[in-house]
Amino acid sequence: MKVPFIDLKAQYQSIKTEIDTAISNVISETAFIGGKYVEDFEYEFAKLYGVKHCIGVGNGTDSLYIIMKMLGIGSGDEVITTAHSWISSSETISQTGANVVFVDTDSEHFVINAELIESKITSKTKAIMPVHLYGQMCNMDKIVAICKKHRLYLIEDCAQSHFSEWKGKRAGTFGIAGSFSFYPGKNLGAYGDAGCIITNDDELAIKCKMYARHGGLKKHQHTIEGINSRLDGLQAAILNVKLKYILDWTSSRISNAAYYDEILRNITQITTPKRFENTLHTYHLYVIKAENRDGLSAFLKSKGIDTAIHYPIALPELEAYENIKQPAIDFVQAVENQKKILSIPMFPELKKEMMDFIGMSIREFYQN
Ligand SMILES: *Cc1c(COP(=O)(O)O)cnc(C)c1O
Repeated sequence: MKVPFIDLKAQYQSIKTEIDTAISNVISETAFIGGKYVEDFEYEFAKLYGVKHCIGVGNGTDSLYIIMKMLGIGSGDEVITTAHSWISSSETISQTGANVVFVDTDSEHFVINAELIESKITSKTKAIMPVHLYGQMCNMDKIVAICKKHRLYLIEDCAQSHFSEWKGKRAGTFGIAGSFSFYPGKNLGAYGDAGCIITNDDELAIKCKMYARHGGLKKHQHTIEGINSRLDGLQAAILNVKLKYILDWTSSRISNAAYYDEILRNITQITTPKRFENTLHTYHLYVIKAENRDGLSAFLKSKGIDTAIHYPIALPELEAYENIKQPAIDFVQAVENQKKILSIPMFPELKKEMMDFIGMSIREFYQN
């Protein structure tokens, strides 16, 4: 049996007719940039999240950058984020001219350790950017309270947490703005690059929209200088089709994870992912901690099972951050986890037989 890490073809096959029609409509109407499909998506996504504004942008990296830039974050400022994420979370802080301040992860949930945030706040701190990694939400009780107390912007990186919840409230709705990616492999994925910003702040919404469209809302009227970062018509039309199924697909991920939890229990050499209480973890990734991780992944590969590591190097340890001034003690947990984490196949269409096979193979590896 072959088990791919993710199977985007299976999902396409299940909605092929609708997707092909949507694509063909965009092309025959030449609705490539702006227009009805983009507006429909922005309207529907905002409605699903119960927020006033959704602004489609080019990708989930631009969305972070645009939010921070339009909040006036820049040179001389500091923004706090996690030591363990995809580089977009930190590189966009630097893009604004601000300095990245990394905070370590907690030992069990792979997300920022909220207990350590306050010690990193200085007079220069402008914002905190929690990243709800793998579909697991950060401790939002704590983070919201810290942001209120110190009057900091709360910007959520929700690239891996579409429809995740903390005590019944969705990721992206806790602070001034939420940032989403629709990279093809994300829980809600387009067929190319795409992203969006959600917010309830009218002024920020207009600024972000303007900035992403060369600084103007009307053709040839540029209020400011901006950038070009648009959600295009084809991606929007594809996302509109997928929005109808996304909650079902999310449920499938959650039940697949529950099945994994069950069959992987009692294997002492691995730890299955932990959840905060009263949260909805949407399992963008199912990440275990494993003894002899590299041996296990090679063994699974030999059985036809693909795995991955998200991410092999903690952000502060990357060459790009060679010159940061934080000591290694600031991210010991992130670095420690990095040697053990292994992402095993996770997607809505994953079959029980495949998970059984994975469970059996993991057992077999540790019995030898
Ligand atoms: C994917 C991802 C992004 C960036 O999204 P793109 O659409 O690829 O630019 C940002 N943050 C995190 C945590 C991500 O996983």
